[in-house]
Amino acid sequence: MGYCDSPYLYKRRKTREIVIGDPAHGGVIIGGNHPVVMQSMLTCDTMDTAECVRQTLELVAVGCQLVRITAPTVKDAANLQNIVRELRVQNCLVPIVADIHFKPEAAMEAVKWVEVVRVNPGNYADSKKFAIKEYSDEQYSAELKRIEEKFTPLVLEAKKLKRSIRIGTNHGSLSDRIMNRYGDTPLGMVESALEFARICRKHDFHDFKFPMKSSNPKVMIGCYRLLVARLQQEGPDWNYPIHLGVTEAGEGEDGRIKSAIGIGSLLCDGLGDTIRVSLTEDSPREIEVCRDLLAQIPILTNSGFIVQNSEFPFDPFHFEKRETPEIELADQVMCGGEQLIRVVVTRATWDKVAHKIRPKDDVKPEAVYEDLNIAEIDPTGDFEINCKTQLVTVKDGVKLPAITAFRLLAAKLKRLGRNNPILLKDCINFDECRTGFQPVSDSKENMETGKMPVLLEPKIALLRASVVIGSLLADGIGDAILVRGEPGAGQSLRLAYNILQAAGCRSFKTDYVACPSCGRTLFNLQTVTARIKTRTEHLKGVKIAIMGCIVNGPGEMADADFGYVGGAPGKINLYVGKQAIKFNIPEAEAVDRLVDLIKEHNKWVEPDGMEQKIPHPV
Ligand code: SF4
Repeated sequence: MGYCDSPYLYKRRKTREIVIGDPAHGGVIIGGNHPVVMQSMLTCDTMDTAECVRQTLELVAVGCQLVRITAPTVKDAANLQNIVRELRVQNCLVPIVADIHFKPEAAMEAVKWVEVVRVNPGNYADSKKFAIKEYSDEQYSAELKRIEEKFTPLVLEAKKLKRSIRIGTNHGSLSDRIMNRYGDTPLGMVESALEFARICRKHDFHDFKFPMKSSNPKVMIGCYRLLVARLQQEGPDWNYPIHLGVTEAGEGEDGRIKSAIGIGSLLCDGLGDTIRVSLTEDSPREIEVCRDLLAQIPILTNSGFIVQNSEFPFDPFHFEKRETPEIELADQVMCGGEQLIRVVVTRATWDKVAHKIRPKDDVKPEAVYEDLNIAEIDPTGDFEINCKTQLVTVKDGVKLPAITAFRLLAAKLKRLGRNNPILLKDCINFDECRTGFQPVSDSKENMETGKMPVLLEPKIALLRASVVIGSLLADGIGDAILVRGEPGAGQSLRLAYNILQAAGCRSFKTDYVACPSCGRTLFNLQTVTARIKTRTEHLKGVKIAIMGCIVNGPGEMADADFGYVGGAPGKINLYVGKQAIKFNIPEAEAVDRLVDLIKEHNKWVEPDGMEQKIPHPV
């Protein structure tokens, strides 16, 4: 079962075209050879027509091509008519996606007014209580029949009105029947989506696409690859477009890094027809990141060299770290085997940051590249490795994209029967990787090309390093990493640690899973996230989920230690793991109660007032 022809050759997956609205008048075509479509979501109350229109116009002004609006009730769904009418009056023709959870009747109302209806197979026509029940085969079939009865009217209406459906599976909200049969697994997510796709196809309706979201980039990457492999297995006409996103990625550099790892890695695999970068920030900022990320993919995938190999050096569907022996990387720093993935810096970076590092600091260089006993290999040719424990990396200047080069290195080592630890680099050409091109107005270059080379902007260096190193880490490849594309010394060091944390490889600070907010949000996500961070960001290794509501389910908090979740307007429910422990806490005291809960579970330490100050890359 495969999801792409070769892990060494970029080739965009061929998908069928889904026409959303009228492409001649503001609509878009998703799939085929069309550019990847950028989308986002409103954060305001759907009943506030003026604010919905204002936010939509703001998104469209920055290039958003598809705007999602939540419709929690039939009343909200009916108000989509007013929103769309007002947008069209203002000559804004952007297609709208209605976001539906739980209520088929809201979907039936929304389909009258908007171009796309999103349904969540995990909760369409289900109760808001998630539970794992036992299902016999008969009960399972009866459940499927019940879902078919509830979903078919929407399919028929969408077909009649020429609407599209987004079958949006979410890792955190799988149905009871799926959890019973497949567990909380990528296969469960995929089968959940396929159940709904089969109902669409039964009625010869094909205008649908699949998102398959998770807040964990490794899980998300595995799910999408498995989905594509299963679609290919079903047959050539199961070539439905894919929407990519990492859900609840959070904010700032962490949100960008998580999204770049998940979305970027799949785009480099040739998958994805539309994307959303979910950030707990104002929605227009998501579009800037979408655009920047998409612009990096040709740079990170193209090369003139064709690798004649299709053998995978990793399992694309299940994360498993490549087995390596433990070695001493530097004095008292081990790497490989079960050791932490280590952070290596260049001598130049070391010289700039060494005097700022204190013994207790978590963010510190663990080895200097120029001091390493390392074999630099050109994987495009034949090579020998005599020492089994020699650290290896790709030689600078190799004419391959970095992801391809490191995969090829891992594959060739495997063929040689070697499992040497690998040092990953974000780029394999030190000079080229630090430069981009920027329009200028008053130079000779500008007169000729309109562009001149400049140092990479930090935001671009961040995206490139996250895509390259994050993709390889998600493949299970890498025992140490080196970031050089970011020219700032402190920034490159911090970026390396942040990539390791976002990829789930190391935990050197508090981890936050925060939803981007939408019309269902029961508190101000940005303000509350900032408040929670102020109190908890010294808690190394603790993971806190901050969710505007429980729609995406407690499953999203599966690997969070604590959850702060909107329960009702002004009321918060607190979770320990997946379990709600405290209910309806007034918002004014909820952060204090969260801190109490962390203390009760012995995860609290007092801040020492000496938090490390290393500049942020964004
Ligand atoms: S979790 Fe957040 S973004 Fe998702 S539906 Fe609830 S409020 Fe909206």
